[in-house]
Amino acid sequence: EKKKKEDAKIEGAIEIAIGVKKEVDFPAWYTNVLIKADMLDYYSVSGCYILKPWSYSIWEHIQEWFNARIKEMGVENAYFPMFVSSKVLEREKDHIEGFSPEVAWVTRAGQSELEEPIAIRPTSETAMYPYYAKWIKSYRDLPLKLNQWNSVVRWEFKSPQPFLRTREFLWQEGHTAHLTKHEADREVLDILDLYRRVYEELLAVPVVTGIKSEKEKFAGGLYTTTIEGFIPTSGRGIQAATSHCLGQNFSRPEMFNIVVEDPNDPTGQGKTYVWQNSWGLSTRTIGVMVMVHGDNQGLVLPPRVASLQVAIVPCGITAKATDEERKRINDACLDLEKTLKKAGVRAKADLRDGYTPGYKFNDWEQKGVPLRLELGPKDLSNRQTVSVRRDNGAKSPLPLGEIETAVSKLLETIQSDMYTRAKDIYFSRLKAVTKWEDVVPTLDAKCVVVMPWCEVEKCEDDIKERSGRGAEQTDERAPSAGAKSLAIPFDQSRWPAIEHGVTKCPACGQDAKRWTMFGRSY
Ligand code: AMP
Repeated sequence: EKKKKEDAKIEGAIEIAIGVKKEVDFPAWYTNVLIKADMLDYYSVSGCYILKPWSYSIWEHIQEWFNARIKEMGVENAYFPMFVSSKVLEREKDHIEGFSPEVAWVTRAGQSELEEPIAIRPTSETAMYPYYAKWIKSYRDLPLKLNQWNSVVRWEFKSPQPFLRTREFLWQEGHTAHLTKHEADREVLDILDLYRRVYEELLAVPVVTGIKSEKEKFAGGLYTTTIEGFIPTSGRGIQAATSHCLGQNFSRPEMFNIVVEDPNDPTGQGKTYVWQNSWGLSTRTIGVMVMVHGDNQGLVLPPRVASLQVAIVPCGITAKATDEERKRINDACLDLEKTLKKAGVRAKADLRDGYTPGYKFNDWEQKGVPLRLELGPKDLSNRQTVSVRRDNGAKSPLPLGEIETAVSKLLETIQSDMYTRAKDIYFSRLKAVTKWEDVVPTLDAKCVVVMPWCEVEKCEDDIKERSGRGAEQTDERAPSAGAKSLAIPFDQSRWPAIEHGVTKCPACGQDAKRWTMFGRSY
């Protein structure tokens, strides 16, 4: 009896979970979409998840695109071990201070305690740079540009969220060394632009490029550039990827001592410490994409990263249909698949037996396939197929005659419409604020505050504290209600010019320097 009741409870929970709406319970909606689209499964270690083929293939698209671009820039892939000795890890003080709360340690092997615990990399600066010091003996060895595709472990205590914040995550980390600051600076921005393009051109997700405040920059670095995304449903910002200039902080003699003779020194005696960058993009990309585009039917995939772009579904076959009629439609679907594949479109005819067209529509909708093509006896005699867009539900007949061109064009339209729609929403939620009284109401309206800011760290702490105070925490799984600085946008021209000595920071009344985005965030 008890078991029956429990089963019923679980079933009930599933029923409710399936019906949950994006705007009603966003966190539950998010995990539901991931499970129902078959992207993810839970794992027995908290904060870790299994990436199933439907999501991993998106990561592969990103890898392929990004690899090609960084190789053009002269970056080579390599692989360093995941373990870091404590001595090396602790060499850069600011760096380790930033990361130490999240570092996982191996302390035992089998039955024996290790003499010295070994860290699992939270990022690989300290694992790599002793070898950079060994390999870079002359300025002729510069620039050194290595990248690795790997996983890192950060034992985060903020509540985990699939893709967005996990304890182990996949990423790429690039680490480069240069002779001059100028060269390093340029690369930081070149990489940031590639990150922007991954989001905007592949995932159809708009981002804002900018620089992080001193408080939010990478621990031990000189400055951090960032692309900031936005999740409209929760009104929260999300750090989408970061490209750091480490300056000479890691190459100094007391750190890793990565030094070369200075070719520009007239005495020929001078030495120079190399300028370093590091940059990373993680599987967070996938979570942001799901949150931005998904709807109450499930996942919505941008065509460029969808492992299946077109699902072809045979329709209109009645129970009375003869085997021959059935075969004719199925063959036509297969033909269509072949034609599209030949043109480079990732298409599949869904000829599964025993499932109704309605079931199949729903299935591909949940999985976010960008385009459905319906093909029935009537369509065949009209030499057409009916296309249905996943992003907006628009239905239209397409002649079978020049179907490859029509479908390719339609996929591109879907891609660009998805981007434009998301961008319009993001930019409509970036609100210029010049009075403190407007800050919290703007955040509560699920917007990002952009305000002229003094750039003082104490003021940033204050803003976080004051904007979080008394604010209603509607979503208990989400992080704090206080706003932090997200980015100082590079493009300041969107807002009125800041007059030095005249424009004041609305939070503290001091002179404002630049327009800065503040928001609740993930
Ligand atoms: P960082 O080395 O801290 O600058 O991280 C590089 C990028 O990885 C960040 O910009 C985030 O987008 C992403 N990231 C950081 N922490 C996590 C995490 N716990 N899970 C997934 N992605 C992360």
